[in-house]
Amino acid sequence: ATPTALMVGTGRGAQLGILIKGPEVLESTRRVDTVVLDKTGTVTTGKMTLLDVVTADGEDTGQVLRLAGALEDSSEHPIAQAIAKGARDKVGSLPAVEQFANVEGLGVQGMVDDHAVVVGRARLLADWAQHLTAELENAMSAAESDGKTAVVVGWDGRARAVLVVADAVKATSAEAITQLRELGLTPIMLTGDNAAAARAIADQVGIDEVIAEVLPADKVDVVKRLQDQGKVVAMVGDGVNDAAALAQADLGLAMGTGTDVAIEASDLTLVRGDLRAAADAIRLARKTLGTIK
Ligand code: ADP
Ligand code: MG
Repeated sequence: ATPTALMVGTGRGAQLGILIKGPEVLESTRRVDTVVLDKTGTVTTGKMTLLDVVTADGEDTGQVLRLAGALEDSSEHPIAQAIAKGARDKVGSLPAVEQFANVEGLGVQGMVDDHAVVVGRARLLADWAQHLTAELENAMSAAESDGKTAVVVGWDGRARAVLVVADAVKATSAEAITQLRELGLTPIMLTGDNAAAARAIADQVGIDEVIAEVLPADKVDVVKRLQDQGKVVAMVGDGVNDAAALAQADLGLAMGTGTDVAIEASDLTLVRGDLRAAADAIRLARKTLGTIK
């Protein structure tokens, strides 16, 4: 392709809401055959709300919200923000937190009102020998098979409640997946969230292949493994968690609505956070490079 044609291509990209890091990016865009999509913030809006609090026998909902809300107020995670806001709406101001710690891809822990509190995946609570009762277990699976995310709250050695949070699938995601398929690409959803919730969201947008419960540090290995199988991989993500995978992919696409870290690690930015722009980018690259050869 001539430099002029590439410049026209990148200029056209800008009109479509696609920021292209350099003209050479169009070549890798053209060759992609597999599109790995992060779930939260990419396929879904990432704006979560607290929908439900299910307590174990004898536990007080207000106390659960005070302690969990206080802890989550120190975290930037979309799940955490939903819980802190939901808690504040119901119980008012939240107590102070000491010794706060974020456990990547699993949850948060810290001291609130002299209680050692943990909020996150059941796996994180199990590390503290806090196990779910049958009723909490049931609440969790019911929420997850519905595409929602359930996190557990525990303190002082006991699991006390399940909090149900959810965000919505973006209105444009299903259409985008259809377009990517029509272009001959295979979509795969990759997420740290649980398998049942991921499956439910994937079904809503028409994705067959789901890789769930992947820790942030392992997302990059999933991309490498696909590349080892001979696939030319595009990765679409929005979070700090996605940066290494975005950089490893043959083509990294960041949501313009996502974090700066993700945008810096990427080759393309979808300015409006609309997944259909990923299909536009592929079409543009094929057209730009196809016509000039
Ligand atoms: P994703 O890949 O979907 O963006 P993450 O890797 O950020 O997800 O998180 C994976 C899972 O870890 C979440 O679905 C949640 O169960 C748990 N988790 C992470 N951070 C928190 C938090 N601050 N509070 C509660 N749970 C959390
Ligand atoms: Mg995300």
